[in-house]
Amino acid sequence: MGKTRRRRLPPLLRQLTDDPTGRGVAAQSGRSAAIRPRNAKDTADKVVDSVCPYCAVGCGQKLYVKDEKVVHVEGDPDSPVSRGRLCPRGSSTPSLINSPTRVTTVRYRPPNATEWQDLDLDTAVDMIADRVIDTRRRTWQDRRHSDNAMLRRTLGFAHLGGATLDNEENYLLKKLFSAAGAVAIENQARI
Ligand code: SF4
Repeated sequence: MGKTRRRRLPPLLRQLTDDPTGRGVAAQSGRSAAIRPRNAKDTADKVVDSVCPYCAVGCGQKLYVKDEKVVHVEGDPDSPVSRGRLCPRGSSTPSLINSPTRVTTVRYRPPNATEWQDLDLDTAVDMIADRVIDTRRRTWQDRRHSDNAMLRRTLGFAHLGGATLDNEENYLLKKLFSAAGAVAIENQARI
């Protein structure tokens, strides 16, 4: 007798025929028998390794993808940082990824303009580089006027890192901006 047919039997018969302790199929409704865990791997097309985008802890993630859409996230047990754990924020990552209000292009509002426009990434990076180089040239301080002490710096730009930057990224950013002569170099996680 198949399991589906046994479930249609009255509970007492189910217990007598297949479940003497009454804690298995005898106590299971058709609805609960049909329920599947929402993270069932067999419903996803693939599982992709990722890193939580929210904070500097950088917990490892397993993203479950179905029809090219992220449908679920679990902590990555192989991550030495988080060892399978995610906080509630990290667990909400699919909501961030799939949000219809998520901005996926570079947005730019020119000086005095009232409307935002989309830029492609290469154009935006070139614009930022042009501004950094120009500001550095205009604001460079080689020596202090009062006593001619060496300065070799600019106060024309600063760097403020976001809390999702990891150690390695912060190291490289500090190195880059110090080499460029910036003095004010900070990170949001420290403020
Ligand atoms: S899961 Fe939580 S603690 Fe871990 S990186 Fe994401 S936001 Fe930070």
